[in-house]
Amino acid sequence: NKPVILVVNKADTRDARERFAEFYSLGIGQQLLLSAEHGGGVEDLREALALAIPEQPEGPAPEAPTVAIVGRPNVGKSSLLNKISGLPRALVSPVAGTTRDPVDTLVERNGKSYLLVDTAGIRRRSQTSGQPEELAVMMARRQIERAQIAVLVIDASQGVTSGDMAIAGTIWELGRAAVLAINKWDLLDGDMREKLELSMEKLDELLADPGRVNVSALSGRGVEKLWDPIDKALKGYNLRLTTGQLNRIFEAAIKKVSPPSLSGAPWKLYYTTQ
Ligand code: GDP
Repeated sequence: NKPVILVVNKADTRDARERFAEFYSLGIGQQLLLSAEHGGGVEDLREALALAIPEQPEGPAPEAPTVAIVGRPNVGKSSLLNKISGLPRALVSPVAGTTRDPVDTLVERNGKSYLLVDTAGIRRRSQTSGQPEELAVMMARRQIERAQIAVLVIDASQGVTSGDMAIAGTIWELGRAAVLAINKWDLLDGDMREKLELSMEKLDELLADPGRVNVSALSGRGVEKLWDPIDKALKGYNLRLTTGQLNRIFEAAIKKVSPPSLSGAPWKLYYTTQ
């Protein structure tokens, strides 16, 4: 039950044009004269094809949420990516097509799809060892811009550095949701652990207590636990509050801490909207 279009090629010759009627005797669907070499009749074929293709179901297919794996050089992004895309049950496919970047990787997890953005960049970058940190921070911005969720990879053995804070600042500035992957957990002893936790305070404050998972990308330990906080962060990212809900939140906040007022008159909240 497939629609058929009979295309008679080499129609630029007089012979073909004269004998076109013969093809009707084949009794096959729609018939077109075409010259593949000169392009004649191609428009007709395009039109016929457009008419023959069944209507697409309503609305676009739901897009997979976008996740960026970001961090300073050598924190273990590429190792983590390999573990994520290599884990059993994680279906991975390079994404072809026009609307998505082929450098992205689609991962299927527990029946859900996630688009890891700019994964080719991560692989490439890890090969160019010794890349200046400033450059890495700038490149991270591009990834974060393309994603809804940023997984910020931290090297646990080094604690939170100013470079980590700079990338976290970009996540905050762009309003993306963050999940922390504290990597190289296998290298920590008690002393280092204490130092790490101390260095985490500012980061936690900046990103408003983000979801956190301690991982070892080298062995794969803990990597599987990343998906829950990612889903949670996504939920938060997509949360839409009504004006009523927002008004109540802001009214309560203003009541608690009154913003400074130049004239001394109390603040009046008209309305809030998202
Ligand atoms: P990237 O530059 O952020 O992509 O980092 P890589 O994935 O290339 O890792 C940098 C180095 O850290 C490599 O030598 C890895 O083997 C090592 N590494 C990555 N993850 C871990 C980990 O969980 N534990 C340990 N001990 N080393 C790791």
